[in-house]
Amino acid sequence: MFIEDGSVYRYGIPFELPLVRTVGWLDRDHVFTQGIAGAKFVDKLWRIIETRTDSFDLHANVVRGIHACNFCGEEIVRKRSDGKRTILGYSELWVPTTESWFAAPTLIVHYVEKYSYLPSSSFVAAVMDVDLESTINAQSVFEAMCASARPIELP
Ligand SMILES: [Zn+2]
Repeated sequence: MFIEDGSVYRYGIPFELPLVRTVGWLDRDHVFTQGIAGAKFVDKLWRIIETRTDSFDLHANVVRGIHACNFCGEEIVRKRSDGKRTILGYSELWVPTTESWFAAPTLIVHYVEKYSYLPSSSFVAAVMDVDLESTINAQSVFEAMCASARPIELP
């Protein structure tokens, strides 16, 4: 599903989350910014995706089933050095900034690596600033935001 970068988040919910902006919801029918994001950024993105512990987890909205890449149609699986596999496309990645959040499909790292997608510099900075040792749970943040959100008023 395509969502314009920088949109206010309202994916699958009947209200907006004003503190959350979308990034990386690409598809083949829409042009996107391309460029070189840098190996350190790509590596950090993978590490955030692959770090899921009781204290640190930036995955939100895990679904059953795997969403294949919108460009190559493949299910993206990466074999890790520890022998485990990382599968993309079944959850969102929520990345905090000092006062807000970015919400991306986990496939964003594949889009950056394979299709030279270049997300905004503010997203790149937010990813680089993530502390993998911090205590943070994106799903809890999402649920707390939804609990206090006001429904959109219909005309
Ligand atoms: Zn692909």
